[in-house]
Amino acid sequence: MGPRPVVLSGPSGAGKSTLMKRLMKEHEGVFGFCVSHTTRNPRPGEEDGKDYHYTTKEAMQEGIDRGDFIENAEFSGNMYGTSKSAIEDVIAKNIICILDVDIQGVKKIRTLVSKDTDLDPIYISIQPPSMDVLEKRLRDRQTETEESLQKRLEAARLDMELSKEPGLFDMVIINDDLEKAYEELTALLSDEINKVLEAK
Ligand code: ADP
Ligand code: 5GP
Repeated sequence: MGPRPVVLSGPSGAGKSTLMKRLMKEHEGVFGFCVSHTTRNPRPGEEDGKDYHYTTKEAMQEGIDRGDFIENAEFSGNMYGTSKSAIEDVIAKNIICILDVDIQGVKKIRTLVSKDTDLDPIYISIQPPSMDVLEKRLRDRQTETEESLQKRLEAARLDMELSKEPGLFDMVIINDDLEKAYEELTALLSDEINKVLEAK
């Protein structure tokens, strides 16, 4: 049995990518990012095939119809989805597969896993300390238009509510102080990290 995958979720702007990138940098060769598909445009600095597979609505819908995706969802007016091949590519390497999905994705993966118990992920929600802090982080990031920012804040309110559902997440990490959040995350994943290191 390989290491358990990690499903990372939480509002846009809560700090998922920041924490994940640090985790991957400080534990080289231990984690693999499951590259999702999206119909949104790349942000400056993002790379096709690394951050996302950027695609069109038509091509994505064709893939969904073909059964290429384990889950997909609409978020803030764009389509996002995890393809079977993206997840299989990482799992095959026997490293910890990280999936960054919204709360709809979490629920879909949970349903899927209940039917096929092979995956057994660890579910983690990264939450901001407050809506005000989240809004400031999103504005300071300068990646959104006013319209997409408002959509993300709307989705964030719902996410913050839904993530309280008992049993949905194994852990909810409040990302106020980055160091503290990072420590909590690594502590939670230490068994899986050791599993990968021991197998090397
Ligand atoms: P997500 O991937 O969840 O959408 P990001 O990782 O892009 O969020 O973080 C959103 C913004 O907030 C980024 O500009 C990031 O540098 C900043 N940020 C993340 N965590 C913290 C923190 N603990 N304190 C202050 N700023 C943070
Ligand atoms: P962003 O546009 O900020 O990269 O991502 C927006 C939201 O989409 C985030 O909540 C992120 O977790 C989610 N997301 C990214 N990839 C996927 C995916 O493959 N499936 C689902 N359901 N959500 C995703």
